[in-house]
Amino acid sequence: MSVRELVVLGTASQVPTRHRNHNGYLLRWDGEGILFDPGEGTQRQMLRAGVAAHDLNRICVTHFHGDHSLGLAGVVQRINLDRVPHEVTVHYPRSGQRFFDRLRYATAYRETVALTEAPVDADGPLAVTPAYTLDARRLSHPVESYGYRLTEPDGLRMLPERLAAHGIKGPDVGRIQREGALNGVALDEVSEVRRGQRFAFVMDTRLCAGVHELAEGCDLLVIESTFLDEDEELAADHGHLTAGQAARAAQDAGVRHLVLTHFSQRYADPEEFERQARAAGYDGELTVAHDLLRVPVPKRR
Ligand SMILES: [Zn+2]
Repeated sequence: MSVRELVVLGTASQVPTRHRNHNGYLLRWDGEGILFDPGEGTQRQMLRAGVAAHDLNRICVTHFHGDHSLGLAGVVQRINLDRVPHEVTVHYPRSGQRFFDRLRYATAYRETVALTEAPVDADGPLAVTPAYTLDARRLSHPVESYGYRLTEPDGLRMLPERLAAHGIKGPDVGRIQREGALNGVALDEVSEVRRGQRFAFVMDTRLCAGVHELAEGCDLLVIESTFLDEDEELAADHGHLTAGQAARAAQDAGVRHLVLTHFSQRYADPEEFERQARAAGYDGELTVAHDLLRVPVPKRR
C-alpha cells in the first residue's frame, strides 16, 4: 500500500519557540521522501517524528533564510554518517549557491553519499518520475524564493459495471488496458480518467502569480501564513502572507486540504489562524499545523 502523507517537523517562522521548531516538512509519496525547508533542529525533529536519513531521496529549499535552511548542515552530515545507499538530490535557488556551499561543508565530515546539487533558476519542471513531476515557481520575497509542486500523472480507472456489460473479465481486463481495445470495445468505453494527485509547498512570499499557479487544484497545499490579517501591512513589507490571504488563494484554487504554517512568534492563539481562514471563505479541510503532526494526502475522489 503506497503511503502519501505530510510529516510536519517544525512550524515556527524566524525563531523557534518553546512549542515550535524552526520549519521542516517531510512528504512521503509512495516509496520516496522529500524534505522541504529544513530549519535549525530538523535532524532532531526527524528522530522525534520517526523519519530516518534513509527515508530522504530529495531535499527542496525554497530560499536561504535560516528558518528554511540552517538544518541543511546537520541533515547532510547525517545522510553521510548513515551512509544512505541511494542518491539524494537537493533543489534550492541558484542565487543562493554560496549559502548552500557553506551549509554543505559547514564542518569536517566524511562524505559517503552521492548528493546531487540541482539548483533552480527558472519556473518549470525539475524532475519527472513515474510517481510525479516536480515543478518550481518563483515567489515574491526579499530574497529569491521558489515554491514547489508535485503532480502525479493522470491514470485510468476501470469501471466494473461497464466491463461486465461488455462481458470483459479475467485476463481480458489486462488485455484491453494494454491494447486499447478488445473485440470492438474501446478502452475509454470501460474506463475513466483517474486524475493524478497534486501537492504544493508555498513558503515565504507575498501574493503573486506563483502562489496561485502552485495552489491550483491541489489535493494538499502547505502554505505559509506568518501573520494574522490585522498585520497585513507588516506581511506585505516583509514578503509574507496573512491567514486570510493564504485561505482565499486556496479557496480560489479549489484546494481540498489546506495546511497553514510558519507562524510568527508574536501570536499566542493558533486558533485565530483557523478563524480568519474560515472568515476569508475557505470551506475545504483545514489544518493549523503543529510540530510532529501527520497529514495524509486526501483520498482520491
Ligand atoms: Zn521563513
